[in-house]
Amino acid sequence: MFHTSYIEVSKSALQANLQFLKELAGPDVRFCSVVKGNAYGHGIEHFIPLAEECGVDYFGVHSADEALRTHMVKRNSSHVMIMGMIEDEELDWAVENDISFYVFEFERLEAAVKAAKEQKKKARIHLELETGMNRIGFHWEDREKLVSYIKEHGEHLRVQGVSTHFAGAESIANYLRIQNQIANYNRYQWYLRKKGVRAEIRHTACSAPLVSYPQTKMDMVRIGIAQYGYWPSKETYMQYLTRDDVRHMTENPLRQIISWKTSIMSLKNVRAGDFIGYGTAYQATDDILIATVPVGYCHGFNRNLSNLGKVLVHGRRVPVVGMVNMNMLIVEVSHCPGVKRRDEVVLVGSQRDNRITVSSFSDMTNDVNYETLVRLPREIPRFIID
Ligand SMILES: *Cc1c(COP(=O)(O)O)cnc(C)c1O
Repeated sequence: MFHTSYIEVSKSALQANLQFLKELAGPDVRFCSVVKGNAYGHGIEHFIPLAEECGVDYFGVHSADEALRTHMVKRNSSHVMIMGMIEDEELDWAVENDISFYVFEFERLEAAVKAAKEQKKKARIHLELETGMNRIGFHWEDREKLVSYIKEHGEHLRVQGVSTHFAGAESIANYLRIQNQIANYNRYQWYLRKKGVRAEIRHTACSAPLVSYPQTKMDMVRIGIAQYGYWPSKETYMQYLTRDDVRHMTENPLRQIISWKTSIMSLKNVRAGDFIGYGTAYQATDDILIATVPVGYCHGFNRNLSNLGKVLVHGRRVPVVGMVNMNMLIVEVSHCPGVKRRDEVVLVGSQRDNRITVSSFSDMTNDVNYETLVRLPREIPRFIID
């Protein structure tokens, strides 16, 4: 394998998540699978074909490099949409390959028309509207200029979508701001429509609004974190659980699709009073047995989990002792009788009856699941399992 750890991606878990999310979205709503950040750490090259096998045919990425990687592995019939950065020089490539992209300022709109003329083909664009996040998007004040520009260059533009993004729908603290954004989007979208700029797909919702603000589903939902098996926040999960139609829910409908595994590198007895690893971060209070694990912060195991993280050995949760090093960490295995070199270590996932979730990881470090996942390096081998 030539690597110290590996990642398993579960097809059945993905299938279950997609089925659940598509039901939540409803029959007439398209599903866009968001695969930015190397498919949230799962690996674009592995995830795209798997998602296609599970019926996904529309992918959202952040940038041209991710679009290229997706384009290389996807089926012809699947669509790629760039929701963020693409340089003007790359627009020709996008237009040529029917890749759609967000347009959020006049400079890019002009560049899109230029690329379309050069390619003798319509540029497929998604107009992004500024509705209150204050990140990217056309302002309400731009509306007349926007409409006249699009009408004037209509032969070169195909308005595939009209979109916006919400500023934190996973937190109830943002409730009013989201409500205002929804109203602003609707007003803008209606204006465009009235003036004859009609989008094929209106899309605004990512994972959290799909659950908490169902009116945002419109024609398509753009789903990232939930398809990988995570609720965007505890509040979102709670809002789901308290819906009228889920009163008898017993088990979490979302399943984490990733597991991360390695094995014991070396074992050692340490006497009471001795320090373990760098510095004085951990002092053994008893005679203990420790195991070295060949994964460290360069592999995405957060250094903040020093003296704090847990991994599974022989089905038991065992503690990280001392500092997480760049390529190694040390765990205490005194209570794992018969433990030996090469025994499996689960960093994320299940072993026997026990389970370590990405969320438990993230809880300990105050990271959000998104961060813990995208920190998994591209080099770690990924395997698809059932
Ligand atoms: C990341 C992203 C999404 C997906 O968000 P999740 O919370 O992971 O579902 C959707 N739309 C845009 C524009 C994004 O950047």
